[in-house]
Amino acid sequence: MAPNFYEFTFQLRQARRLVIQAGDYVFLRFPNTPGLREGHPLSVVNPVTTEGRLVLAIRGDGDFTRQIQQVPIGVTAAFAGGYGHFSQVIKDYPQARLVLAGGGTGAIPLLAVIAAYPDKAIAFYYAAHTSQQLIYVDELRRLAADHPQLNLHIQEGRFEPEKIMASLTTENQIFLLSGPGPFGRNWRRAIQRAGVASSRVYYEEFSW
Ligand SMILES: Cc1cc2nc3c(=O)[nH]c(=O)nc-3n(C[C@H](O)[C@H](O)[C@H](O)COP(=O)(O)OP(=O)(O)OC[C@H]3O[C@@H](n4cnc5c(N)ncnc54)[C@H](O)[C@@H]3O)c2cc1C
Repeated sequence: MAPNFYEFTFQLRQARRLVIQAGDYVFLRFPNTPGLREGHPLSVVNPVTTEGRLVLAIRGDGDFTRQIQQVPIGVTAAFAGGYGHFSQVIKDYPQARLVLAGGGTGAIPLLAVIAAYPDKAIAFYYAAHTSQQLIYVDELRRLAADHPQLNLHIQEGRFEPEKIMASLTTENQIFLLSGPGPFGRNWRRAIQRAGVASSRVYYEEFSW
């Protein structure tokens, strides 16, 4: 997908045992593979149907996420989950416009949210350090072409959340944030200063 960034597809043996909502993450481990036996949190890209196909997008940031690039096809993987609150917050505010902000790999759960709610008004702010590290951009643009209520803001380098908050006009919105610590702090500070109730903000920190 991008340098050091790969998509992995798994076939679940018992799809019904894993309940995944849009934006959830799972803990993935390979019980029989030395070095990969410890579970790591990874966001699910696709809607997991009864067919049991589960897709992850993984950037090789460290030992586990690099070694997984060498795992042969057919090796047994184990999952626990799904975890996360994005879908719950969306259900708590059924009429709200969604403002999504994703930094780097933090965009991955938000991509699943966008795909799951094609009829909602959504603004998506997606930034990565370099343009090469932006993933699924073509898919997003295709989705936006079919859904005029989906507004994409995709860029290399940081957004300025204070300016973005000043430009938002609707009152009834919820903020779903996902990315590394400094990213989350910036966005949350700006959202708080704009007077948004904390119950309308959910941040999933992507640190491990
Ligand atoms: C809820 C959640 C969902 C996530 N979803 C995704 C996802 O969908 N896709 C994805 O790619 N990631 C995702 N992540 C991040 C992913 O879990 C971590 O990148 C992964 O667990 C790191 O494990 P690792 O063993 O590969 O890295 P580690 O080896 O533990 O390294 C972790 C960090 O330390 C740094 N590091 C490692 N070795 C060194 C060193 N020698 N010197 C200096 N720094 C070093 C690495 O750069 C890395 O940033 C998610 C995290 C969370 C919390």
